[in-house]
Amino acid sequence: MTIRLFDRDVTALDFTATVLECIPRGDSYEVVLDQTAFFPEGGGQGADHGTLGGANVLDAQEKGGVIRHTTDAPLTVGSSVEGHVEPVRRLSMMQQHTGEHILSGLICRLHGYHNVGFHIGTEAVTLDFNGPLTEDQVRHVEQLANEFIWRDLPVEAWIPSPEELAALDYRSKKAIDGDVRIVRIPGADTCACCGTHVLTTGQVGQIKVIGVMKYKGGVRLSILCGMRALEAETRCWRRTEPSVRRCPPSRASWLPPPAGFCRSETSCA
Ligand SMILES: [Zn+2]
Repeated sequence: MTIRLFDRDVTALDFTATVLECIPRGDSYEVVLDQTAFFPEGGGQGADHGTLGGANVLDAQEKGGVIRHTTDAPLTVGSSVEGHVEPVRRLSMMQQHTGEHILSGLICRLHGYHNVGFHIGTEAVTLDFNGPLTEDQVRHVEQLANEFIWRDLPVEAWIPSPEELAALDYRSKKAIDGDVRIVRIPGADTCACCGTHVLTTGQVGQIKVIGVMKYKGGVRLSILCGMRALEAETRCWRRTEPSVRRCPPSRASWLPPPAGFCRSETSCA
């Protein structure tokens, strides 16, 4: 079993580990460590990338409790190596994943629908629910979800005792042998989950629903959270007519930016 350092502290991205296995696989290598901060692909969330010793980590997969890292260079079995998880990709994954919890928890509470599919794609994040939602209902839950972000609530994760677990009402309840890890966002969601999440809801930044479509008798939402939402807004901004981007004085007169808020090239003042 590989020790999962990300379960203890999602902010610990740099670590030292001992190489237990290194097996050539075509052009790459499959590396097993005694412990790792690399989150393996699972639960809709992609694997962490980064470096191990002098090698790049391209993927990480878990099977039977053992996490196998795909590297582009060999590592010496028995040696001690330094690992570094690439922080921007990890933060984005945590933002998308935690945003999913907030939205899914609220939709379950308000409408009784369950999240039956979740995938962090390269473009958008998709969430599938087993019941229909109108556009007004989607906009309402999007607004509520962002209000939970603004309240900057703690994202709690812990392994309850069997007695405590039996008394908990939570999503993703499955018959699992062994420990069940619970992730709770007070007022929004309680869910069994082994993924990585930000520490407070404020770190999600924002949640934006960018697509709603009927899907298998329910609905598929496409969303963007945090830095992905910001990047999408920047792309929209660049596509906007230059005359609009300049923010004419008539607009500025009713919506003055806070002092020091705008940079000179985009200033509305
Ligand atoms: Zn989760």
